[in-house]
Formats: sequence, C-alpha cells, structure tokens
Amino acid sequence: MIGISVSDILKMLEKIPIWKTLAETPKKIEQIEKRLLELEKNISSFKQKEICPSCGSENFRAIRSREANQRTYKCKDCEYKETRSIKNT
Ligand SMILES: [Zn+2]
Repeated sequence: MIGISVSDILKMLEKIPIWKTLAETPKKIEQIEKRLLELEKNISSFKQKEICPSCGSENFRAIRSREANQRTYKCKDCEYKETRSIKNT
C-alpha cells in the first residue's frame, strides 16, 4: 500500500494555484447568484406598482395632480396619502 491519504492529496492540490481558484469558484458563483437575485428583485420592483410606505399595500396609486410637477398618491387600504414632486425632464 502506498502511504498517501486523501488529506495528503488535498494538501498537494492546494499547492497548485488553479486548484485554489477551482475550490473558491463555487463560493464566487454563490455570491454572483445572490447579486443576480438582488438585481432581479430591484428590476421587478421597478416594474411593480407603487407600494404604500405605510401598510405595504399595492393599492397605492396616483390619484390626482394639483400642480403639474406634483403627484398625489393615495393608499386604498389605509388611506395614507403622499404628495411627490415629479422631476422635470
Ligand atoms: Zn396603505
């Protein structure tokens, strides 16, 4: 029998730079996946309707604009109102 154990092989592999990279790759992929998920969430929240800052309901809609550069939002669920200014483009 040859006196080489699995841990010996792993120690030898650790000395090879590319092995280290390979060993770290799953972690990096995990990080990238997390970032992608966060990005997707951000993108979908852009597409989604306004969400009420008070109760989190999606029934938060623009009701009227008293002034041209302002928009009033109202929540149908909790009656929360918010006036936002719209940037001139
Ligand atoms: Zn609400």
